[in-house]
Amino acid sequence: MLPVELIQKRKRGETHSHEELAWLVKSYTDGSLPDYQMAAWLMAANFQRLSVDESFYLTQEMKKSGQFLEFPSSVCAVDKHSTGGVGDKASLILGPIAAACGAKVPMITGRGLGHTGGTTDKLESIPGYSTAPALDEFKKTVLDLGICIIGQTPDICPADRKIYGLRDVTGTVENIPLICSSILSKKLAEGIRALVMDVKYGSGAFMSTLDDAKNLAKALIQIGNRSGIDVVANITDMNQPLGRYVGNSLEILETIEVLKGENLDQYKDTVELSLVLASQMIHLSGNANDEIEARKLAEKALKSGAAFSVFEKMCARMGGTLSALPTPKFKTEMISKFTGYVSKFNARELGMAAISIGAGRKSKSDQLDLTSGFYFHKKLGDSVSEGETLVTIFGSNESLFNECKNRLNHAIQI
Ligand code: URA
Repeated sequence: MLPVELIQKRKRGETHSHEELAWLVKSYTDGSLPDYQMAAWLMAANFQRLSVDESFYLTQEMKKSGQFLEFPSSVCAVDKHSTGGVGDKASLILGPIAAACGAKVPMITGRGLGHTGGTTDKLESIPGYSTAPALDEFKKTVLDLGICIIGQTPDICPADRKIYGLRDVTGTVENIPLICSSILSKKLAEGIRALVMDVKYGSGAFMSTLDDAKNLAKALIQIGNRSGIDVVANITDMNQPLGRYVGNSLEILETIEVLKGENLDQYKDTVELSLVLASQMIHLSGNANDEIEARKLAEKALKSGAAFSVFEKMCARMGGTLSALPTPKFKTEMISKFTGYVSKFNARELGMAAISIGAGRKSKSDQLDLTSGFYFHKKLGDSVSEGETLVTIFGSNESLFNECKNRLNHAIQI
């Protein structure tokens, strides 16, 4: 096949065959198709969107580009995936809850992307936690403990790794069929039979409008079902950070508090989102007859400490020492200049402010300050008085705090 013909075809909005898409994925993954031609094809696909059929074929080929897991037929493995947000630590809570209720959860997570945080980075703030075990060890841990959460490895979906890297730097991330194929190829490679999707919309999400989020949710269900898995998609609000903490080790702290049942009043949104999604996983994996029964099981697993015990065991198995979680060296308060109500957060800007103090990467090779981040004292709609603390800022580098405060000032409306 001639690459330029495929690019021209896409540019004209003509339909690709399964064979053509298979060739594209294979050639780009093995290095025979150069970045500049793949980038041109991606930009054409950005404007001439792939059809459902094409996105389905692309998904299958990307999945097949690497190794994939298979579980015994008696195991209905289930996972959850979020399209990305700020302060979103729900996976770390709902996974152990679902596992404590009998589900098997092989969860492969991503690193921070753009203004959003990544579960892999959060786990790596636990000293010793290995996010890249051998695939056999990953599978064995899922079967033994009910869950294993790791990062993307070079063996799984290498096509997505490469294509995603190129999309990130060519402005072709925010495209529904491409997002669908990217997410589902990785999830299908986990050997799951059911998937709970959390499609975020709002100022801190990749899909800023509800309509786009709905379209993405529908596409994920359609292509997921066609690939042979059950998919439930939730559309959830990302117009403010989830919970109170944003930042890697800080989000692990919130995770531990929630799993231990401490300060739950502060973390109502984190708890509710985790319980809703965990209930769907418990139901889909056949561990409850319906979501109502699943919700009761999920609440019990959280209250009894069973979910925390699963989380502790998983961390220990991956070499992590939870009790050694690093603490930030410095902190400062961001004070409100006004009296009123919190009327708006620009969650994307809050994510960028977190990057400015090292909680995320400005470029791929950046080292994170895993202890940096925020504690939000106020949520949307809360009353606030002049002189009250809005946000506590944490980190190892005090010299970054002033710029960060400025950014926060612009991102929070009283
Ligand atoms: N998350 C992914 O894994 N892929 C995308 O394309 C967007 C978000």
